[in-house]
Amino acid sequence: MRKIAFWTLFLYAMYALFFAFYLFQWTDSSIPAQYKGTSADPATFLTKKELMLAEQFSEVKNFLFFLSVPYEWVIYIFMLLFGLSARFQQWAEATTKRRFMQTAIYVFWLSLLVQVVTFPLSYTSYYVTKMYNISTQTFSSWMRDELIDFWVNYVIMVVIVYVLYTLMKKFEKRWWVYAWLCSIPFTLFLTFIQPVFIDPLYNDFYPLKNKQLEAKILALAEKANIPAEHVFEVNMSEKTNALNAYVTGIGGNSRIVLWDTTLERLSEDEILFIMAHEMAHYVMKHIYWGIGLYIVVTFIGLLLTNRWMKRMMKRFGSFCRIKKWNDLASLPMFLLLISLLSFAASPAMNAISRYEEHAADKYAIELTKNKEAAISTFQQLTRSSLSQVHPPYIVKLFRYSHPTILERIIFLEKQ
Ligand SMILES: [Zn+2]
Repeated sequence: MRKIAFWTLFLYAMYALFFAFYLFQWTDSSIPAQYKGTSADPATFLTKKELMLAEQFSEVKNFLFFLSVPYEWVIYIFMLLFGLSARFQQWAEATTKRRFMQTAIYVFWLSLLVQVVTFPLSYTSYYVTKMYNISTQTFSSWMRDELIDFWVNYVIMVVIVYVLYTLMKKFEKRWWVYAWLCSIPFTLFLTFIQPVFIDPLYNDFYPLKNKQLEAKILALAEKANIPAEHVFEVNMSEKTNALNAYVTGIGGNSRIVLWDTTLERLSEDEILFIMAHEMAHYVMKHIYWGIGLYIVVTFIGLLLTNRWMKRMMKRFGSFCRIKKWNDLASLPMFLLLISLLSFAASPAMNAISRYEEHAADKYAIELTKNKEAAISTFQQLTRSSLSQVHPPYIVKLFRYSHPTILERIIFLEKQ
């Protein structure tokens, strides 16, 4: 047991060391020589200071990202190794006989532990974002969001875990197929209620405030048959200086949301380009494609998890004081496997997303036909979030759901 704990920590340290060197020493975001001096070269649109800050900020944020994913794995492994998970199950069983309540208690302790242990990393991330003046959120407002996050995730997780372990106990062989079948309506349901019940817990949503601008945006939306009641503004300026817009929800709840920072700080033509880009997602039904893909990936993920979980629990179960593979206390193993698989799948998922984002850029430039506005939009996005125009390859692989700014501007330049 001590041996496993030692090796877990050792491997984590080696991994962290690798990324420290990779991100801070071996790579930077300088662009290929043939693009020097073009509109894609940040030196042409950022000041020297902004350039330096963007490089520093991105390096730190990327490092924090790569630290935090396997950090979660270490927590799960330690929970199992030191019998903490078994202990949580005992507490839950000692309190009540009802299985749903046992699940609620067990998941509460697990979530609390993860929240507390990961707090230093999430706080550092908040602190750095604030230090570089991207976030403008007060500590109490940030803390409030963290608490909402905790409870929203908690409620969703209790429901999922309860259904999951009921199925595991009833159908030891085929539980994962039934779990997969249940996940389909559940995913659709969550996507449907998200814009109406979950997102408003964090921010205020309302129709566009600037009526002149609204008329132009809605005229553009009409071209693509998007009804006016699907366009919203969200109050983000209290929390951030960054710019953004996105498409969310399905059916009657589908909507295009523009951050108020975007509306306040970009020119009209730039806003219309962003709007056209979001409209493309809406028109091409990228949300539905995303859900479809998610359903397929969940099937494969559950299939593999079923196999590996039984195998791992057979080998290490008694070690961790867990009697059966489908005892509630095996949850950290389930979460560990799911998290490992999603991390491994993320480069492929990001590549698909980048393909969709590129299609949206293409649609937007064809609709607006304003190359200068489109290019300056991406330059503004870079400045407002101090992002790297040309990130290191591994960063792009794991973190970029959008093409890099370099790729996006080069594409526009060729139009
Ligand atoms: Zn997009």
